[in-house]
Amino acid sequence: MRYAETGFNLEVDLTRGNIERVETDPGDTELYMGGLGTNTKILWERVSPEAEPFSPENLLIFGAGLLCGTPATGCNRTIVSTISPQTRLMAFSMMGGFWAPELKYAGYDKVILRGKSPDLVYLWINNDKVEIRDASHLQGKGAVETAELIQQELNEPKAQVAAIGLAGENRVYFASIEQGKSSASRGGIGAVMGDKGLKAIAVRGTKDIHIARPAEFMELCNEVLKYIKVREENPIPGVMPILAGLGSPQEMKVHDEKWHTENFMWGNSRIRRKGFWNEEVAKEWTETMENAKTRLVSCYNCPMECGATISIPGLPTYMMKCFTKLTYTMAAMSDLDFGLRIAQRATEYGVDGFSAPQVMAFAIELYENGILTDDDLPGWPSDSEGRFYWLLDRIVRREGIGDVLANGTYWAAKEIGKGAEAYAHNNIKKHEQLPLKLSMLNPIYFLMYSTGEKINITQIEGQFPQAPFPKREQREAFVKDWFQVPDEKFKQYFLDWELRGENSIPYYPTVEMTCDIVDWQERMHYIDDALGMCSGLSSFPLKPPYHIHNYPKFISSGAGIDMDEAKLTQAARRYRTLVRAVNISRGMRRKDDKVPENHWKKRFPELEKELLDAYYKLKGWNNEGIPTKESLHELGLDYVSEEFVKRGILKDSEDASSEEASAVTEKT
Ligand code: SF4
Repeated sequence: MRYAETGFNLEVDLTRGNIERVETDPGDTELYMGGLGTNTKILWERVSPEAEPFSPENLLIFGAGLLCGTPATGCNRTIVSTISPQTRLMAFSMMGGFWAPELKYAGYDKVILRGKSPDLVYLWINNDKVEIRDASHLQGKGAVETAELIQQELNEPKAQVAAIGLAGENRVYFASIEQGKSSASRGGIGAVMGDKGLKAIAVRGTKDIHIARPAEFMELCNEVLKYIKVREENPIPGVMPILAGLGSPQEMKVHDEKWHTENFMWGNSRIRRKGFWNEEVAKEWTETMENAKTRLVSCYNCPMECGATISIPGLPTYMMKCFTKLTYTMAAMSDLDFGLRIAQRATEYGVDGFSAPQVMAFAIELYENGILTDDDLPGWPSDSEGRFYWLLDRIVRREGIGDVLANGTYWAAKEIGKGAEAYAHNNIKKHEQLPLKLSMLNPIYFLMYSTGEKINITQIEGQFPQAPFPKREQREAFVKDWFQVPDEKFKQYFLDWELRGENSIPYYPTVEMTCDIVDWQERMHYIDDALGMCSGLSSFPLKPPYHIHNYPKFISSGAGIDMDEAKLTQAARRYRTLVRAVNISRGMRRKDDKVPENHWKKRFPELEKELLDAYYKLKGWNNEGIPTKESLHELGLDYVSEEFVKRGILKDSEDASSEEASAVTEKT
């Protein structure tokens, strides 16, 4: 008997139209959990480092997290993994909503897609009956519209549908996969789905998921629910609203946007507008949001209500999620009404709500600086809002300049030339980042940004406060009930963190402390991504209901896998290292572990080098950022080091690199 998971994957060959139900190895679950962990193992084994993102060999894997479909609150994430057209590295984007639990109830843990369909199709998974169906009539349809049309034609309103819009069909590098109340947006995974000729996957399941020790498991679930209530009634004082509570419902409920509008950058991540948030703006934006918002909505089995349905007269209703509320507004230097309107069209087209606005703001900046001209932009409107619509329509159709911009700022700048690369200034690993430009280097964020491979917009932050609290009493109050820490030392790190003086950034937290903090943060994100837990209840907020102390109990009683903190930490390290290994085999090295040059005004090259060196060491990576043979062995990943030796990435006799490799990196 398999617990929590179904023990079966669906393997779909889109070239041949072949569908197989394949039993999985329970040993893999024990070592790699589910979701991201086992997705990565499959990508490592089956997609060669030479495989192009748009090749039939590239896989597109929809993996439900290990605990999805169980009663664990907020456990509903689908982890979609593939090779990204934008970064050319492994992408693993998460979507919430209802899709993953439904897949489990249909009897599968993953859908693994390979090959390419010659015609546009969709996949219909109805418990044991799985079929590939013609989707030619859905060509060009919006992602949300497609889901509705499929539900109607199947006469199955309860089917959960993940679909792409025009952007995915046309292989826009920042195309998303939309799923009603959520989306998987980062890394251009929608483009890979479009390349495979797959418009949507509809799923309906009515089976049960077995729990190893149900009474124990339910008790844990009830404890979590109780704690969520406590946290909701006791927001953390002194931090921004989104970190004071859990999840991200604040974005839809709280209308005070002073923090975002005055601290994040506007336009192409250029302008900070101090003093923007005045009474007049607050009144206007509150009215706009209140008039547009029809209902607050949650993902499967979650009380948090992070999303909202938005209905604007004359436009179809759509779902708004998190900070996308402001991304179009701020990139276009416009107002909230514009942002909510264009987001409706963008959701139907299926584009990443973070990258798309930045790409458009980038194009406007190129025009203003004479790099793009009227010849490149026939019919170019004169106002910013008009330009955004104009650009969006052309990008998703890959028309004219839209064809170039559809590859994202990094690749578009290369193709445009004439100095355009200086304007693609907000990328990490070729991918658009959160529009933030700050003053003093923060060592924690430096490590997160430079070494992160998740490419999520919040990086791998969470758990540890973003900044010190001004007074020691406030810090003492904060650490009092901070039981989520994996080690008591984190409390001391925070207690001693000051706004100014010796114990302030950039030299405090010290290099060693910074490495510990980032490692903890990353571990929690990777555990969530394997279990299918929403980071809004675990890795992202402060003092979350799920943490390193109760997760092993959930896994033991839910999945029947004998688990403790050390074993879970080791499992997370194992598949995190495997993600790195996939990317290393695709050419990623230390030179790629860097933040945008202008992210901080005050940089400290020596400290940054020291941070990277120490973090690599902690992670078991050599100076080039390559996992060493020794650490791979310790994690049971000898098969990776064998491959690395075969490919000349590591030497047979020793771990390559050390001083020699470091010197090479610094010169390049
Ligand atoms: S916390 Fe919010 S985003 Fe997370 S599962 Fe719940 S409703 Fe969805």
